[in-house]
Amino acid sequence: MECISVFDMLKIGIGPSSSHTLGPWRAAERWISELKTSQKFQNVQAITVNLYGSLSLTGKGHATDYAIMLGLSGKDPETIPTVDIESTVKNIKDNHTLNFGGEFQLKFNPKTDIIFNRKFLPFHANGMSFTAVINGKKLTSKFYSIGGGFVVKEERKNAKKNYEIKCTFPYPIDKGTELLQYCKQLNKPISQVVLENEKSIRTETEINAQLQRIWDTMLECIYIGCHTEGNLPGGLNVRRRAYDLHKNLKGNKPYSSPVEWVYAIRDTEVKFRQILKWVSCFALAVNEVNASLGRVVTAPTNGSAGVIPAVLMYYLVIENHDGNFEDIKRFLLVAGEIGSIFKKGATISAAMGGCQAEIGVSSAMAAGALTELLGGTPEQVLVAAEIAMEHHLGLTCDPIGGLVQIPCIERNAMGAIKAINAAELALDTSPENVKVPLDKVVNTMWETAKDMNTKYKETSEGGLAIGVHLSDC
Ligand code: SF4
Repeated sequence: MECISVFDMLKIGIGPSSSHTLGPWRAAERWISELKTSQKFQNVQAITVNLYGSLSLTGKGHATDYAIMLGLSGKDPETIPTVDIESTVKNIKDNHTLNFGGEFQLKFNPKTDIIFNRKFLPFHANGMSFTAVINGKKLTSKFYSIGGGFVVKEERKNAKKNYEIKCTFPYPIDKGTELLQYCKQLNKPISQVVLENEKSIRTETEINAQLQRIWDTMLECIYIGCHTEGNLPGGLNVRRRAYDLHKNLKGNKPYSSPVEWVYAIRDTEVKFRQILKWVSCFALAVNEVNASLGRVVTAPTNGSAGVIPAVLMYYLVIENHDGNFEDIKRFLLVAGEIGSIFKKGATISAAMGGCQAEIGVSSAMAAGALTELLGGTPEQVLVAAEIAMEHHLGLTCDPIGGLVQIPCIERNAMGAIKAINAAELALDTSPENVKVPLDKVVNTMWETAKDMNTKYKETSEGGLAIGVHLSDC
């Protein structure tokens, strides 16, 4: 059975896309590490990268070329100062040289050495190959970015098992029914079962520290988005909306840090319509930061990174002014587990399943997590996740210009609002009245993904991407 940690689902990285930015970045790092293990790294004389399928069709808009260059330069997406991104890439482009693995200079012209190959490889729509010339001979390695920053090697049979963390969970979970069984058996809420699994691979102190880091990154991301004015990069001239929304919503309370800001919002009188605006504002803020190559948490992907922080902020500033780290911890543990159920039973890759796999899954994760915090039973948590996904089924991925901006940014606001609504509906639902269990909707999503025309799977060859032209924007 495949075991996925919450920290595999919620990863700190750089925007705009987990499958097209974080995945290729990690693949480049992994390739370098393989070259080092086989003692070939120091002898590399030249390198080329081929991007296939969706990575080539929307790679430019998703900054895949940037990710490849940064990964090949030995930079870490979790720690690189975001202000260094443009200058590092500019340096490579201007000088046709990169600092390979951060260790030695190698000739590299991104225009000719990164090949956008429209061909699809059979295993997955997001394929890439790295070729090194070593002692005059070519050595090629293929990788696949399968969504949410996960990367696997070519071997199809082993791909599903090819994860870095070995499965040692005491409560292995593939399906919602199994999760409910453990909750019953242990008489614990979902967050506690997930915590027991996490504790089998790291201490609770480490879990708390990492969850705190994840929340700090989410909060900072919302804060930056709400306080940054102007247009987004990429050529669509999309105006950042979180700034204006936030300006109209915020009261007069002074603050000088993200944490003080949370208290300032709690002190602001919020009317019903403003709740919708606040939640939308939080979600837009994250995805505007994401679209401008800022630091976000993949949840479960970068394109859908705004839903979970927006719903968690909703809980902290609207629902429960006494909300604290314990609530944040429970929320993230439940969200991560629900995301992993979708990943195991369907997909979190838009190149495989369209936007239902991104915004749909993030909305389900947030809906379930919020339901537990609002006092829902484990059954109601899964009902909330099911409702949220049920109403995203069939959602296509059709980003205009291949940029993670339209419709992506707004979709996060919609996904967050649907998550809150799903949680409220679930809290009023008795388990005996449930007609569509979570596992059925996971399966339905996967079947829908398989039926979906390729042009709606992150290729920018259908939907809004062809209905609206760049010149219209
Ligand atoms: S349309 Fe949805 S799935 Fe596609 S890039 Fe945008 S957010 Fe991601």
